[in-house]
Amino acid sequence: MEETIIMAALSTLTSPQLTDITSSILSQTVNHRSRLSSLLCSPSLFSLTFHHLHSLTLTQKTFLISKHLLSSLHDLTRHFHPTTLVPPHPYTTFKHRDLDAALLLIFLCDVHQENPEILETPHTEWREGLSKHFSETVLRQTSIGVHYGGVLLPYVEVIIRCWRFVGMMAGCLVKEGRELAAAPAVVAALQGVEVRRGGEECVICREEMSEGRDVCELPCEHLFHWMCILPWLKKTNTCPCCRFQLPTEDVFGEIERLWSVLIKIGDGALNGECT
Ligand SMILES: [Zn+2]
Ligand SMILES: [Zn+2]
Repeated sequence: MEETIIMAALSTLTSPQLTDITSSILSQTVNHRSRLSSLLCSPSLFSLTFHHLHSLTLTQKTFLISKHLLSSLHDLTRHFHPTTLVPPHPYTTFKHRDLDAALLLIFLCDVHQENPEILETPHTEWREGLSKHFSETVLRQTSIGVHYGGVLLPYVEVIIRCWRFVGMMAGCLVKEGRELAAAPAVVAALQGVEVRRGGEECVICREEMSEGRDVCELPCEHLFHWMCILPWLKKTNTCPCCRFQLPTEDVFGEIERLWSVLIKIGDGALNGECT
């Protein structure tokens, strides 16, 4: 279901955008595969990463997957709309050790689904079984060929699996209806415009924005007095007029925001096709 919606969202991209997205995902996939492959080939690196992963609490593991998910969502959504652009997020830059742990964790979840008997052996024997499973998966995916679906679909599937995992684990971490401040870097980059025609009111203070005055324009094109919108965005990242969401610095908040951007585009594409 989610696969269909996200693939529908991707289908709205122009052909150069699709080429762009596919090549960036392809190079990322190759990079992740080679990290995972060297990890599985080296007994010492494997045991180091395995023990690092093992030492993490469930909350830390969830956070690791969340960061991975956020950076993938960020990669996907930045191709759609400039307003979803986020300045490089502190959480999406991974330490190598954490990236390896995240890749191994995601791979273990795959194996758990597709080939659980490997994980039933003593974990000192896992590396061999995992390497074999890894080679088979890579061969199978390579034989599908490197075309849009061949690269994008597995990528989208990982995103959806991570999304479900985070939703399940972080459900208790994310409070319903909590308000998040807009990211300060994004607020600092907001543009001012001159009011062309007076008479329109700022919905925050209900006072008129007089002609010629420099006011703040949000990406949704709604206008506000600077002195009204700045304190507002310190409390919440949504536009007072249309609920458009600006980027935040919260990992879970960002996952929800980018996910809903994708779902909205995908839903629109699907409904557009039906009518
Ligand atoms: Zn105002
Ligand atoms: Zn708005």
